[in-house]
Amino acid sequence: MTSQSHPHAADALSPATLVVAAGRPERTQGAPVNPPVILSSTFVSQGVPGAGEPLYGRMDAATWHPFEETLGTLEGSVHPALVYASGMAAIAAALSLVPPGGRLVLPRHAYQVTLGYAQDLRDRLGIDVTLVDIADTDAVVTAVREPRAASMLWIETPTNPMLEVADLPVLVEAAHAAGALVGVDNTFATPLVQRPFEHGADVVVHSVTKYLAGHTDVVLGAALADDDDLHARLHAYRTLHGSIAGPFEVWLALRGLRTLALRVERAQANAAELARRLAEHPAVAEVRHPSLPADPGHERAARLMDGFGAILGLRPHGGPDAADALVAALRLWVPATSLGGVESTLERRRRFATESLTVPEDLLRMSVGIEDVEDLWRDLAQALDSL
Ligand SMILES: *Cc1c(COP(=O)(O)O)cnc(C)c1O
Repeated sequence: MTSQSHPHAADALSPATLVVAAGRPERTQGAPVNPPVILSSTFVSQGVPGAGEPLYGRMDAATWHPFEETLGTLEGSVHPALVYASGMAAIAAALSLVPPGGRLVLPRHAYQVTLGYAQDLRDRLGIDVTLVDIADTDAVVTAVREPRAASMLWIETPTNPMLEVADLPVLVEAAHAAGALVGVDNTFATPLVQRPFEHGADVVVHSVTKYLAGHTDVVLGAALADDDDLHARLHAYRTLHGSIAGPFEVWLALRGLRTLALRVERAQANAAELARRLAEHPAVAEVRHPSLPADPGHERAARLMDGFGAILGLRPHGGPDAADALVAALRLWVPATSLGGVESTLERRRRFATESLTVPEDLLRMSVGIEDVEDLWRDLAQALDSL
């Protein structure tokens, strides 16, 4: 059994301690230090089941709880997080809060599958989808009001892959004034760097696949809500759709989460150093990272976030062919989609026909890992010099 303490009981501990200490079994003589993986689809039960009694694996699983409690505490939510089969399953649950015929406002550079899902909602449920530049605060504030009030404002900040930074508190206030819910995809920042509930967000989602699990061996998602009714609706969606996580995945994600603070600290330091060096390299046309003083997102990120994240945008001189040649010339950096693992990966986003056409064709999205920064730089420098 894990500790059932209210998340706020642990408020005094810093996030770097919480990732290590939260979600542990009770300290009784002979108890394991790590929670167990329970492999059972059903549980002994007869008569009318009591509230919270283990019953059936699609409804609830004790192996989820330590991770759910830990992530809930890290995000500062009054409820534990809810785990889902993937980040997209969590996003589908969150977007189910938009009623048929409602209006959804979302970043034009949101995660591409989120954009694809919004289109699906438009086609199937008549949801009116409006895309905005999330960094253009005036445009977003207008879009949540006109031509009619939005049902939900969806926010990613920084965006994937363009790294635009939103003015979160201002957007949340404007959306609430218009009667809209606010959902935030906090995958890029992690709760160590940004806690959207502190700015009034209603729903927070994660692709746990990325930084939270962190080792490129798990596909998993999570959604959180402070409001009792919203939390109950997210929970019901998971049970009704069966979009549940496997016990091993959640156990691995908790194991990965134990080192989140160290990984994020190192990856962010590496990213900022590489951004600085790349910006000075003659083969580079543009680098995007909010740590750079000249980056359009720098001021906001410095004000609203506890760090600048570890994703870089890079555009070499020479167009998409040069970008592809750069990827091919790398030996340590892994060419692969996805992000947030211990290893550094990169890809040219427009290699996907589904990527937004406003993402430049030569843009490389780089997920900076926790390797030695000098090794990462040497590999990049030799590849850039070869162009
Ligand atoms: C990867 C990603 C998702 C989707 O998560 P999956 O776990 O792959 O389903 C959603 N949002 C962002 C920002 C992502 O990077």
